[in-house]
Amino acid sequence: MYKTVAEIRKLFIDFFRNNGHTIVASSSLIPVGDPTLLFTTAGMVQFKPYFTGAVELTFTRAATSQKSLRTTDLENVGRTERHCTFFEMLGNFSFGDYFKKEAIAYALDFSTKHLGFDKEKIWITVYLDDDEAENFWLAEGIPKERIVRLGKKDNFWGPAGDTGACGPCSELYLDRGPEKGGPNCGTSNTCKPGCDCDRFLEFWNLVFNQFDQDINGKLNPLKQTGIDTGSGLERVALLLQNVDSVYDTDELRRIIGFIEKLSGKAYDTETKMAFRVLTDHSRAITFSISDGVMPDKTGRGYVIRRLIRRASLFARRIGIKEAFIYKVIPEIVDIYKEEYPDLAKRQTEIIRIVKSEEDLFLNTLELGLAVIDSMTKQYEAKKEKRFSGADTFKLYGTYGFPAEMTKEILRDRGFEFDEKGFTEELEKDRKLSRDSWKGKKAQLLSSLGEKIPATKFTGYEKVSDEGKILFILQDSKPVTALKTGEDGIIVLNQSCFYGESGGQIGDSGYIKLGENLFQVKDAQKENDVILHIGSLLKGELKVGDLISTEVESNRRELLTYHHSGTHLLNGALRELLGTHVAQKASLVSDEYLRFDFSHNAALSEDEIIQIESKVNEAIQSSVDVATQVLSIEEAKKTGAVAFFEEKYGDIVRVIQMGKYSVEFCGGTHVKNTGNIKYFYIQKESSPGAGNRRIEAVCGSPVIEFFQKEFQALSQKTQEFNLKAKDVFKDSKNFIDSKIPSPDEVQDAFLKQGAVTVKQYRDLKRNIEKELIEKNTILTKEKKKLESEGNNSILSQADSIFASAQKIGSTYFINHSFQDLKIDVLKELGDRIKNRSERVFISFVLESEANKAVLLMANKIALESGLDCNQILKSSMSILNGKGGGKVDMAQGSTSKETSTEEIIETVKKEIIKRVN
Ligand code: ATP
Ligand code: MG
Repeated sequence: MYKTVAEIRKLFIDFFRNNGHTIVASSSLIPVGDPTLLFTTAGMVQFKPYFTGAVELTFTRAATSQKSLRTTDLENVGRTERHCTFFEMLGNFSFGDYFKKEAIAYALDFSTKHLGFDKEKIWITVYLDDDEAENFWLAEGIPKERIVRLGKKDNFWGPAGDTGACGPCSELYLDRGPEKGGPNCGTSNTCKPGCDCDRFLEFWNLVFNQFDQDINGKLNPLKQTGIDTGSGLERVALLLQNVDSVYDTDELRRIIGFIEKLSGKAYDTETKMAFRVLTDHSRAITFSISDGVMPDKTGRGYVIRRLIRRASLFARRIGIKEAFIYKVIPEIVDIYKEEYPDLAKRQTEIIRIVKSEEDLFLNTLELGLAVIDSMTKQYEAKKEKRFSGADTFKLYGTYGFPAEMTKEILRDRGFEFDEKGFTEELEKDRKLSRDSWKGKKAQLLSSLGEKIPATKFTGYEKVSDEGKILFILQDSKPVTALKTGEDGIIVLNQSCFYGESGGQIGDSGYIKLGENLFQVKDAQKENDVILHIGSLLKGELKVGDLISTEVESNRRELLTYHHSGTHLLNGALRELLGTHVAQKASLVSDEYLRFDFSHNAALSEDEIIQIESKVNEAIQSSVDVATQVLSIEEAKKTGAVAFFEEKYGDIVRVIQMGKYSVEFCGGTHVKNTGNIKYFYIQKESSPGAGNRRIEAVCGSPVIEFFQKEFQALSQKTQEFNLKAKDVFKDSKNFIDSKIPSPDEVQDAFLKQGAVTVKQYRDLKRNIEKELIEKNTILTKEKKKLESEGNNSILSQADSIFASAQKIGSTYFINHSFQDLKIDVLKELGDRIKNRSERVFISFVLESEANKAVLLMANKIALESGLDCNQILKSSMSILNGKGGGKVDMAQGSTSKETSTEEIIETVKKEIIKRVN
């Protein structure tokens, strides 16, 4: 019977609730406590510490519908019928409670009786040697013919991330009928689960957790066995609704319909892929930003940037050339708002962020594609199939094409690129620091040899404007025009670009005239003249051209938060510490603010908290920011704080934020203090005698900062096996060992003001203290154990010799060890061979990384013609290992999978060959 996605979700949750499971809310897409994992990829992620026994359990069985995001499936989106990046995973879990038998019974019961799948059509896979699982399926009435054994790749679940619970699994498939088979499968009986075609669709995976993988990849038995299952909600819906793909299930189809309406294009065979990419990516972007991820150059934010850019690329393929994804967001929010109320709360912000990010990329998308076209032609002419790192980097650095996207475009055209070369270019670029403009600016201006009129700055009100090109500089010389590919500096009569000054760094963006495009990478100011520094990406721009200007608005917004935040900080410092506080220097960037001021003592934690809460109070009282332009005399009368190292003209701007701050300032500011949202002090230090330095973040970066910090702390607590309840103590409300959502961070600041932020600080200190203690104990214990271990091993020299096997007149010693330093073995070898018999030693040292092999022989053993180096080399070539050495000692290694017995046998054979 037809069921909607929402109905299926509810059925699943109800079923497991009725079977004694605690229903746990979906955790954030930002995974807690695991820096090896970028996103939450499955339901079990939030329960990782439950499986390994790192937290105390308040329940032993749970069920969830978990928001999941898999970057590994990014390029599958649009290409397969069953993959999304973002999807919901239904799952039931047991932590030391039930195991295989019950998990199998629940899955079959739910699938047949509640979802109504035909039992005759259900197929099962089990892991190669998992007879136990197979027997349970047989007992449940699934015939042997419909149970398939699959290997490690398919049916052994490695841990999410690099460490944690893992074990064999068993999957449920539904046979969608022979007509869904591939061209070679048809009605053949050979096609079964594991085949690449679409006939058998996996819809549920049951993982039987038996092992705990440690950081070195070693499988240790889990303290308690557990069950972790995952079933894609959209996939189950596909099967139940009997449609072609996950995109044709009710909720995703609604988004597709909306895109059809918005774009005026039809969803058909030709446009299918683009529609699916747009649908999936829009949804993934919306959910991720809602959880606090911001488009960025690296990490998680980079994935979001990639998704937005790939979506723009596919929008263009169906003829949409303007910003579009942001328009789909309200529909997505409408579909999911009941299940995920955070979406609706953050809708406006998500739309703003996405629109601005889209606008930014759309400046260069067309151009980049044209560049790829011409590059492909050149490569074709040279009969080259591989793009150089430099070319791929150009597409990234100049046109904003994520490398993965370039790769996908190239692959579709039969090309590839040099990934290593690309990474090298990226590294090189990161090392190039920003140009220093000190002194250079004045020189540049004087090179123009004329008096240059001040640029009228219009950026207080606008982020886009018009203007006229007055001058162009190239290599410090005036020129009349810039052509494609040329770097230069443009001076306009008026501009909305803020030129770096007063500590606030310059804006970036574009100068345009029709198709002609200049990318502004930096803007500087000298004598009220704004210099737009960058390169001409397309066409030509000439002196006298009437152009339009466009500032990167997301970035500008962040700059204003940090600038206004700096003023509030200055005000709070003067109020709390005294009016001797004077600004010494400041840096206002999109990422953070840095403020140096005169004060002769380090700030106590209490003072920091007071300052922080004062600033947050000013933010929460949402006062309008008033700007007055006054003569310097009048301005002084306002009592405004001036920064005495700055020269002021005759006319100055005075920025007032209610009773909290009045300052002379030429920078860009928020309209209302409430826009800043939050203010958090990251660090207090001293930049030099008599001065202090505060580094702080404002706005959305605060959320990211909190989440990152929290993730790191929680990771550490797990690593050191601290019990959550000990370290999280009474901070329970705020941090319940889950990544705080943007809403929760907001609560910490807004509802209870700095009190909860204080709790957070306490918490952080507690954890760090405990970690340090624990760490010192651990290191001490380890050292002690090591030296004890070494001595006890060295004392075994005689007994090891006694176990030697005699081959001819040579005493052949083989022995294996674990987790020792190889030097200890060499020492041991020396002790053993120090006797009058012929001794040949073969030691195998097993470690997490590999198996080391050490061969040693004493002088008389060598007389018989044995050669450690030769024996090692020929053994290693048989064992696929490597190594070498001298006649009397040689050392090599094999992969850790090679069995110790095999190593010993191989070496022995090589010796026998030579002895005889
Ligand atoms: P596939 O081989 O189809 O990619 P998988 O083996 O990666 O699937 P699991 O890791 O076992 O899948 O995830 C558990 C369940 O989550 C799957 O049975 C499926 O129903 C669902 N699922 C996995 N990946 C996706 C995806 N990209 N989009 C939608 N659902 C998915
Ligand atoms: Mg997969």
